Amino acid sequence: AKEAGRDKMKVFNRRMLDKAMHAMKLESDLRAGILNNELYLDYQPIYSLESKEVIGFEALLRWLHPERGLVMPSEFILMAEESGLIFELGNWVISEACREIKGWITKYENAADLAVSINISGRQFSQTSLVDNILSTLKQLDLPPKNLKIEITETAIMERAGQAVEMLSKLQSAGVLVSIDDFGTGYSSMSNLQEFPLDQLKIDITFIRRITKSPENIEIVKAIINLAHNLGLYVVAEGVETEQQETILRNMGCEFGQGYLFSKPMTVAEVEAFLKGNNSL
Ligand code: C2E
Ligand code: CA
Ligand code: CA
Ligand code: CA
Repeated sequence: AKEAGRDKMKVFNRRMLDKAMHAMKLESDLRAGILNNELYLDYQPIYSLESKEVIGFEALLRWLHPERGLVMPSEFILMAEESGLIFELGNWVISEACREIKGWITKYENAADLAVSINISGRQFSQTSLVDNILSTLKQLDLPPKNLKIEITETAIMERAGQAVEMLSKLQSAGVLVSIDDFGTGYSSMSNLQEFPLDQLKIDITFIRRITKSPENIEIVKAIINLAHNLGLYVVAEGVETEQQETILRNMGCEFGQGYLFSKPMTVAEVEAFLKGNNSL
């Protein structure tokens, strides 16, 4: 029994060690990956439920690891936040997305009014230099601020409520669009939501998934849409996968949709082919 106990201990320690080593390797790999251009952005179209036109894209981070292949953000964003690498990564995303949208506007007439959304993580949002960073990138590239939208999760905004108002209003008054992301997963109420300068509210995928399951779920989404509209915000539904969901959302007055029903995230080459074509899906 003693032997078995010791073996169990060994296995346990070994596993913990493996986990720690794996985490350390992932972090140093990401550090190298940023320098070696292993990161890139895919772009998922955001679609007007009324006009059926694409009104913008959300930039989604991808990492092509030399040994592991494609690594999704769910596997490294948290680590980047914890290690502080998110600052470098986040700044890279800002300049890469702005550079790309600027290129599309220059090349394609139908791209003039597109807004590219970028995701800003909680830790990134705690850095007050973020605002100057975004604004100076726009200036450097001579990119109109209306072509950029930032998505910040409900939780990230509420956790930093004090500085959020000031940061967001600086961005908004410069003309950058501001969206609250993953709405419904946090704890905001109508009264604290109205304090924040916002343009758009994105309903979390979990609510969209449940929408066809019961009438109560429809009522919840309806309440969120009404809340947003009462605050003067546009609404985007994320993770729209079926025509049934699309119809329900359109009937409730939801302006925009994003999801596999319309398109999966596209590569830059696919976006360019799309813009070169007729700008409809
Ligand atoms: P998110 O901001 O909620 O982004 C939407 C996620 O849903 C994306 O996953 C997208 O590919 C996926 N998606 C889109 N349509 C559908 C659909 O119809 N069905 C389903 N099941 N999923 C759909 P992805 O690309 O894996 O990104 C995951 C998360 O990683 C994002 O969630 C965001 O929180 C984070 N992320 C991505 N790019 C960045 C970035 O540049 N910076 C930061 N800080 N976070 C990022
Ligand atoms: Ca997002
Ligand atoms: Ca989400
Ligand atoms: Ca999110």
